[in-house]
Amino acid sequence: MKIAVIGSGYVGLVTGTCLAEMGNEVICLDIDQAKINSLNKGIIPIYEPGLTEMVKTNLAEGRLNFSTNLPRAIKESLFVFIAVGTPPGEDGSADLQYVLDVAREIGSSMEKYLIVINKSTVPVGTAQKVRQVIEQQLATRQKSKFKFDVVSNPEFLREGEAVNDFLEPDRVIIGTDSSEASEHLRELYAPFVENGNPILFMDILSAELTKYAANAMLASRISFMNELSHLCDATGANIEMVRRGIGSDNRIGMPFLHAGLGYGGSCFPKDVKALIQTFKEKKLDSYLLSAVSKVNQRQRDYFLSKILNYFKNDLSGLTMAVWGLAFKPHTDDMREAPSIDVINALRSRGVKIKVYDPVAIKTARKILGEEQIEYLEDEYEVLTGAEALLLLTEWPQFKRPDFNRVKSIMKKNLIFDGRNQYRPQKMKELGFTYFSIGR
Ligand code: NAD
Repeated sequence: MKIAVIGSGYVGLVTGTCLAEMGNEVICLDIDQAKINSLNKGIIPIYEPGLTEMVKTNLAEGRLNFSTNLPRAIKESLFVFIAVGTPPGEDGSADLQYVLDVAREIGSSMEKYLIVINKSTVPVGTAQKVRQVIEQQLATRQKSKFKFDVVSNPEFLREGEAVNDFLEPDRVIIGTDSSEASEHLRELYAPFVENGNPILFMDILSAELTKYAANAMLASRISFMNELSHLCDATGANIEMVRRGIGSDNRIGMPFLHAGLGYGGSCFPKDVKALIQTFKEKKLDSYLLSAVSKVNQRQRDYFLSKILNYFKNDLSGLTMAVWGLAFKPHTDDMREAPSIDVINALRSRGVKIKVYDPVAIKTARKILGEEQIEYLEDEYEVLTGAEALLLLTEWPQFKRPDFNRVKSIMKKNLIFDGRNQYRPQKMKELGFTYFSIGR
């Protein structure tokens, strides 16, 4: 089957590559010529386990191509996936300009029946806007007779696990009002649900909302635990014990119950805010989601307050080491990463920062610049001269460091653990002054 995927970022690139892996003919498109040039050479601009090998194989076998020529790809394809960004606008609502630009391109280039599939995360009602833009373009070309369907097919992949998540999704959501599109999509997705996981067909509006509902639910669980972590600190209860205690209840389950620095990344923060905006547009209140978002932001300040308290509000002239910059392990994505707020707050108080992350250093340089920050390629090297170690991303390699080596290098045996990676009792025995979240 011939497929065009418009937008070759985290979602588009994974979608296109996995569809090619199943034998489809795929063109991944982007407006960024440099990105397309490097992809055509098999150079992947993002860190995503397993993706490079799969891109190279499918490129070599001719099923996967990269191009900036949208009109040609649209003319030749049956399926056109929209996988461009939907960043937050000034008021927090999803900015649809890229999605609607693509819709215009589709309307001005299509020559035959087309299934337009929206994979970008978009507010409920967007498929209708996409449909209208395409219709307008067709009308100006006097081609209103061309048939097309707009389908909502939100993506649930997790960065760092994206390839596996796409190849074996928990479920595929298809929002459509067309039986023709349903049949084509059932066939397209059949190889990905051989394990028996469902393809859920539903109306378009429900499919669009399902994506936001999923992210808002997961974000709520994290904020719930983070709020409780303050009470644990204040009472002496242990948030980790509480997590196990409630997570072992089948009605609750373990995932997304870790207290820490709060959620970051390109999805949860923006999707929670966009959903709040959708409530507002419909003249409805969302007390819960506003609180989820506030609790998340406050958690970064909470972590910072532990550092400030320890140093009696005077951080000037100190050197601190940071382990982990990415918003979560196994990715180089730093969009909305807690590390950005923490590092900026410390720098503004005169702290010199030395940082290490296994894959996000290149991204970090672009975001954080060079002022009062030193990027190093070894997790022990950053400890030289450091008065404190801050653990900000729970990469597996930080789980069992050589603590004797850590002590021998650092100026002070002091750790602020934003991800609750170590046992407080063990850290005490090892001779560290150790702060974590809610324990
Ligand atoms: P991204 O920023 O990594 O990639 C978007 C790409 O689209 C960029 O390469 C950009 O150059 C390209 N683009 C923009 N306008 C274009 C145009 N007119 N024509 C062609 N290409 C264009 O974004 P992403 O992380 O892949 O996210 C894409 C969408 O998927 C967003 O709506 C996001 O919320 C959603 N989503 C993301 C994830 C994730 O983990 N990243 C997971 C699920 C859903």
